[in-house]
Amino acid sequence: MDREHKDVLAYVEVSDGKPVNVGLELLTCARSIADGAGGKVLAVLIGSGLDAAVKKVAASGVDRVIVVTDPAYTVFRQDEYTSVLERLIRRYEPAVVLTGNTPLSIGLAPRLAARFQSGCVADVTSVRRENGSLTWVTTRYCGTVLANEVITNSALQFATVRPGSFSKPEASETAAPVEKISVAVPADAVRTKIRDTVQKISETVNLEDADVVVAGGRGMGSAENFKLVEKLASLLGGVVGATRPVIEDGWISRAHQVGQSGKIVSPSLYIACGISGATQHVTGMTSSRFIVAINKDEDAPIFEIANVGVVGDVMKVLPVMMEEIRKIKTEA
Ligand SMILES: Cc1cc2nc3c(=O)[nH]c(=O)nc-3n(C[C@H](O)[C@H](O)[C@H](O)COP(=O)(O)OP(=O)(O)OC[C@H]3O[C@@H](n4cnc5c(N)ncnc54)[C@H](O)[C@@H]3O)c2cc1C
Repeated sequence: MDREHKDVLAYVEVSDGKPVNVGLELLTCARSIADGAGGKVLAVLIGSGLDAAVKKVAASGVDRVIVVTDPAYTVFRQDEYTSVLERLIRRYEPAVVLTGNTPLSIGLAPRLAARFQSGCVADVTSVRRENGSLTWVTTRYCGTVLANEVITNSALQFATVRPGSFSKPEASETAAPVEKISVAVPADAVRTKIRDTVQKISETVNLEDADVVVAGGRGMGSAENFKLVEKLASLLGGVVGATRPVIEDGWISRAHQVGQSGKIVSPSLYIACGISGATQHVTGMTSSRFIVAINKDEDAPIFEIANVGVVGDVMKVLPVMMEEIRKIKTEA
């Protein structure tokens, strides 16, 4: 990392007036990088109606919050947001720029890296400092291999952070100073025009933010049996997850799929019911804090990552589990 440029600029994506989870989580990553270099964390928010989000971020252990607020930036547009961030990077000269690895933010870091002829690492799950350089850790082959990546071609480094990889920062007692600035983007920097926006009405399933996920696999046997998974999720105040075969069989909608081609989740508790533990599924839930697996096959791979494994028939185990949970709830 360059000696003079030590700060970390962290772009915090905002959705419905709130920072998205990974927007807060990447501040923990930013803090550890900045502390290791003796630098500062500069959190950047772009858009309008950001007051609540700014308050939250200012109390998240950052050194400064930079707010670019303009009604023109209400709708996320790659060209404009990239240009705004480019101008902020030229102005604040950070050593590292972080964004979330979300569908919206994922394009920002590589575009910016190209503009600064710098290196960019995508989908980072952790980072460490070795001999003054940053080693970024990413996954390969559905999480079965960890790759260490070091950017050597430039002092300025870009990275996108995988949701659920870092914990959110503790709320700090003092709020960081907030700087509101306006950044004009020249008309010729914007190459796309949004003519119309259409909101697709589909089932909203917030698996990514769920604290408890109860997921069912093919081992549930049928759509009818799968209702037990939904009942357990509801009893625990959790969200229902599913494997791909369950989606393909139409037992539940695609919005519930966890895994490589589904959603990445990191709840406090993940209960896997009748799930074998294929890498394509496991890659979406390994960062769960506590994993309970129920499977009738004692050699099922899911048991290798489970904190608690129950060898048994889901149709017998789940009703007993629910009965016990109900008892505990009534006693409490
Ligand atoms: C490119 C690609 C992307 C993919 N993306 C995803 C993805 O995003 N998410 C995903 O989940 N999969 C994905 N898959 C599919 C993945 O490879 C597996 O096929 C899938 O995860 C297996 O789902 P399963 O565990 O429900 O089924 P199975 O592998 O068939 O396992 C069922 C399990 O249930 C157990 N069982 C059966 N009956 C009972 C019972 N009565 N009680 C208890 N246990 C029982 C069995 O012992 C078995 O272990 C992808 C595959 C490819 C090729």
